Amino acid sequence: MNVPLLDLQAQYASLRDEVREAIDHVFESQRFVLGEEVQKLEASIAEYCGTKHAIGCASGSDALLLALMALDIGAGDEVITTPFTFFATGAAITRLGARPVFVDIDPSSYNLDVSQVVQAITERTKAIIPVHLYGQCVEMDGLLEISVEHGIPIIEDAAQAIGATDRGDRAGSMGLMGSFSFYPTKNLGGAGDAGILTTSDDAVAERLRRLRNHGGRNEYQHEEVGINSRLDELQAAVLNVKLRYLDEWSNERARKAAVYDELLDDVPFELITPSTRDEARHIYHQYVIRVPHYRDALMDHLKQHGVGTKVYYPIPLHRQECFAYLGYHEGEFPESERAARETFALPAYPELSETQQAYVVETIKSFKPERQA
Ligand SMILES: *Cc1c(COP(=O)(O)O)cnc(C)c1O
Repeated sequence: MNVPLLDLQAQYASLRDEVREAIDHVFESQRFVLGEEVQKLEASIAEYCGTKHAIGCASGSDALLLALMALDIGAGDEVITTPFTFFATGAAITRLGARPVFVDIDPSSYNLDVSQVVQAITERTKAIIPVHLYGQCVEMDGLLEISVEHGIPIIEDAAQAIGATDRGDRAGSMGLMGSFSFYPTKNLGGAGDAGILTTSDDAVAERLRRLRNHGGRNEYQHEEVGINSRLDELQAAVLNVKLRYLDEWSNERARKAAVYDELLDDVPFELITPSTRDEARHIYHQYVIRVPHYRDALMDHLKQHGVGTKVYYPIPLHRQECFAYLGYHEGEFPESERAARETFALPAYPELSETQQAYVVETIKSFKPERQA
């Protein structure tokens, strides 16, 4: 049997007619950038996330960059974030000449350890970027308190967490801004690159709208320099179709996760399933397990039996070559480094069949740790 980590073909098969019709509609209109489909998507995402505004842009990476630009972050500034995240989180900070200040993760949630944030704050700290990793929100209560007390705004990197909640609040609605990615493999994925920002602050929303379109007040009057990070109509049209199914899909992912939680409870070697909080909704962008002693051998065993897996992420940001100048060293963020060595994702997409999932579990259970050197 073959079980890929993600099967976008299966998703497309269920949406084919609707998606094609939406794309046809865009071609017939011959309006390709920032038109009606984008406006519709922005209104729907704002409503979905519980924010006043949503501003479409070209990618999740650009969403982070634009959020930092809207806070006038640049050389000499510091931004606190996690080293255990996708590369884009750190890159957005350094692209503006600012310095990422890393704080280690909580080993059970893999999210920023909020209890270590205060000690990382200096007079140069201009923002905090919590990343809701794998689809589970950072514990925002504590972080919001820090934000208010120190007057430091929060940008939520919610690229993996659309629809996730923390005490009833949706990801992207708790900080000053939220940034989302519609990369094709995300829970809500387009047919290429796309992203969006959420905020309930009118002035910030207006600034973001300008910044994504060359900083212009209108086509010819520029009070500042922005970037070209407009969202196109084809992406928005596809996303408008898919958004209708998002909650169904995320609930289905959560059901797959619950099945794994139960069936992986009694494997004969140490295997730690994801920990979740009662007051939070996890949307399982990834279902990530920790296997302290046999991670690579188990991944290899699964591969040999046709099961797709992947490590998110094998190299924490403070160990990336391009960030060597920051001066961080190995061992500085031990939990991030340990997670990079011990964890990997299993297939948990909505269309995964019961038979396929049973096969994944069976394959894990057939792994013989005693045969490992
Ligand atoms: C996917 C992702 C991004 C970047 O989004 P792109 O649309 O690929 O640019 C940023 N942060 C996190 C945590 C992500 O998973």
